[in-house]
Amino acid sequence: MEIINTKNIIEKELPILKNKYNALKKKYKKEANFKMIVVGNDLATKSYIKSKEKMADEIGILNDVISLDENIRKEELEKIIKDLNEDTNVSAILLQMPLPNHLEYKELIDLIDPIKDVDSLCSTNMGKLVLDKANYIPCTAKAIIKILDEINEDVEKKDICIVGRSNIVGKPLANLLINKRATVQVCNSKTKDLASKVKNSDIVISATGVASLIKKEYIKEGSILLDVGISRVDGKLKGDFDFDNIIKEGNAKYITKVPGGVGPITVLSLMENIILAFERGNVEK
Ligand code: NDP
Repeated sequence: MEIINTKNIIEKELPILKNKYNALKKKYKKEANFKMIVVGNDLATKSYIKSKEKMADEIGILNDVISLDENIRKEELEKIIKDLNEDTNVSAILLQMPLPNHLEYKELIDLIDPIKDVDSLCSTNMGKLVLDKANYIPCTAKAIIKILDEINEDVEKKDICIVGRSNIVGKPLANLLINKRATVQVCNSKTKDLASKVKNSDIVISATGVASLIKKEYIKEGSILLDVGISRVDGKLKGDFDFDNIIKEGNAKYITKVPGGVGPITVLSLMENIILAFERGNVEK
């Protein structure tokens, strides 16, 4: 069994992305400007934001975090989003999840201009994704495709099990794979007999945040296991797959690890979307 080295993807693709961005900067005589809106003080959020800032800095994308009090009123946040939409110097906007209970993510994401919505999660961008004419591919779904490309895996004719049906991971990923003619099954916390669903799948992508949910007994020989989930157990980051025992058993073909597997490729995919948004924002003027 091979642990997929996703660092290779970054090493190959980051220089290409930097060159593309430098050419666009010269062409438009300005820089991409990426705004991240964070509400509250969630610790995990801080580390996700840090990795986004780090890669944006490395590419040379202007970026800053708009940190808001967890008690901010909905109307105030709506005004901040609307002002960012209207600011022609802002190329890309990201509203970081999770939000406090009094704020409805589904409503707020729809206020972001679809061209600046680089997470690509607003209704317009999701609808376009379903119809196979996406503005941008949502970042985690894009990361999964990049990883499958890296191992030369064609999803056509493959049985794929996605564990988790969230708007941010499971649903966009399922639609992207369906459009690529994969046969897709999406599971959730109420799914009957998860083990048999996983056992019958050539590719399993898990995004639940339940540590070690997928056991070695569930794994089909020769399958590909991609771990999106991140949770903290005894101070350590863990994925959804019972990694140590699955590795010992050794009958899968590929697996990604947590941390350092899918996560960094999700951030790379976000950077690609920001640069696309920068390009589109300038072309459309
Ligand atoms: P959500 O909480 O929105 O969704 C979790 C999904 O997992 C739900 O559909 C839920 O089912 C399902 N689920 C929970 N428990 C089980 C179970 N026992 N069996 C089967 N399904 C279960 O989370 P997100 O989609 O936002 O994130 C999921 C995980 O992925 C988190 O750990 C997050 O940190 C990580 N993540 C990682 C990224 C990366 O790039 N590596 C990017 C984004 C997220 P139900 O619908 O029934 O509630």
